[in-house]
Amino acid sequence: MSIAFPKPDEAILSRRKDIIGGLGRIVAPEALIVSEDERRAFETDGLTAYRQMPLAVVLPSSTEEISAIMRFCQENGVKVVPRGAGTSLCGGAIPQADAIVLGVSKMNRVLDVDFQNRIARVETGITNLGISQAVAHEGFFYAPDPSSQLACTIAGNIAMNSGGAHCLKYGVTTNNLLGVTLVQIDGTVVQIGGEHLDSAGYDLLGLITGSEGQLGVVTEAVVRILRAAEGARPALFGFERVEDAGACTAAIIAAGIIPVALEYMDKPAIQICEAFAHAGYPLDVEAMLIVEVEGSDQEIDDMLRRIVAIAEPFRPKTIKVSQSEAESAAIWKGRKSAFGATGRVADYICMDGTIPTGQLPYVLRRIDEITKSYGLGVANVFHAGDGNLHPLVMFNINKPGEMEKAEAVGEEILKLCVEVGGCLTGEHGVGIEKRDLMTHQFSATDLAQQMRVRSVFDPLWLLNPAKVFPLEGRLAA
Ligand SMILES: Cc1cc2nc3c(=O)[nH]c(=O)nc-3n(C[C@H](O)[C@H](O)[C@H](O)COP(=O)(O)OP(=O)(O)OC[C@H]3O[C@@H](n4cnc5c(N)ncnc54)[C@H](O)[C@@H]3O)c2cc1C
Repeated sequence: MSIAFPKPDEAILSRRKDIIGGLGRIVAPEALIVSEDERRAFETDGLTAYRQMPLAVVLPSSTEEISAIMRFCQENGVKVVPRGAGTSLCGGAIPQADAIVLGVSKMNRVLDVDFQNRIARVETGITNLGISQAVAHEGFFYAPDPSSQLACTIAGNIAMNSGGAHCLKYGVTTNNLLGVTLVQIDGTVVQIGGEHLDSAGYDLLGLITGSEGQLGVVTEAVVRILRAAEGARPALFGFERVEDAGACTAAIIAAGIIPVALEYMDKPAIQICEAFAHAGYPLDVEAMLIVEVEGSDQEIDDMLRRIVAIAEPFRPKTIKVSQSEAESAAIWKGRKSAFGATGRVADYICMDGTIPTGQLPYVLRRIDEITKSYGLGVANVFHAGDGNLHPLVMFNINKPGEMEKAEAVGEEILKLCVEVGGCLTGEHGVGIEKRDLMTHQFSATDLAQQMRVRSVFDPLWLLNPAKVFPLEGRLAA
């Protein structure tokens, strides 16, 4: 799965000075980044194996500035790669040599909070965690919680329809978003959705969510905020067999219980995360589930009792219920640091596919077999409750050929997800990483129809080009 970038447009490259001049007439000098050293900070994202130096980077401060930039880019045939914090794991924010990067990080204000109606209006450069922090004093929070929430922006969350450990109960971004302000490539500003539930007409908000920066630049968002539950408590269940953890997950979901979170970690992941976070994870098991429930103390006790009863036939070797806030925090610190902690011991690529939860035992066995057949290691950590896998395929970048092997493993795993009735991406998006695998999920007719939708918003394909759709497919559309 070696990823190709299209050849840059020489005509655009030769006009770089004029393009920079045009952008400089729209934004303040400090909002325009042109030197090679400073542009380097934007040449990649969370998919660090791939990089491209952008033509220039522009960091506007308002919707009006973004509108003017977009109009200028459309008139001059300049490609635009929207960017939040650059934490995308699928290369969604990686630039192209003949494109500008348009970052919203300076637009990070909370514009309005309405606790009575449980909504917050924000500029989209605000971090995911920043929203919860802004409403915490009244006992509220914003539910979707990607592990990158300290850094990633709501702009990126909307573009990728991001999820997180606590999305099993509360839903992912699309379920917590009510409206957006979208700047289209011709500079037009449109309001989609609003402060109310649902809208008349087509579900354009659903279309924009997960559109990976290809339909417009989202500058403001209205999100749902929720009152935090009275209490929450995670419990750890350790199993001697991977299959038992998978089957136990499927049984909990099949019983109709919706914990707030139901996370899976296999032995390598447990050991890596425990060494980093000292979370009290059991080290003598092959797989572990973190199951968190919330409510009053009595509700928590009741639900945990039911979950323990469901788990018992799968013979858990460890059952450990958190006894304090500190213990709960340590359990989540371990899980949420999984990617960073893995990065301490190996290079890795993080895959992101979904499967029907009933297929977990089979898929976990196959992931192990596939990885071993390439002589590589894998740490599995994922949102098991909704079947969203994150195998971290480990390799050594200094060993020639190992990264290519890791990519081949990743490709086989994603094809496996599709084969068992799942999907190429659960929450990280397609970007460049899975672009060339889209033909395994969709027929040529399906893809052509999706590309037509894209063309309605961006007829010249200037917005985040070379992502999501196979390059040759674009020409045929
Ligand atoms: C350690 C780590 C843990 C992670 N954990 C999770 C997790 O638990 N769950 C999860 O879902 N993801 C996770 N991610 C992936 C990543 O954080 C998310 O995809 C996140 O939403 C990206 O946000 P960002 O601000 O960094 O966006 P960027 O990476 O900058 O951009 C992501 C996409 O959004 C588009 N975009 C950016 N701004 C705009 C805009 N204003 N308008 C339109 N399009 C725009 C970009 O073009 C790109 O396609 C993780 C990443 C890391 C590095």
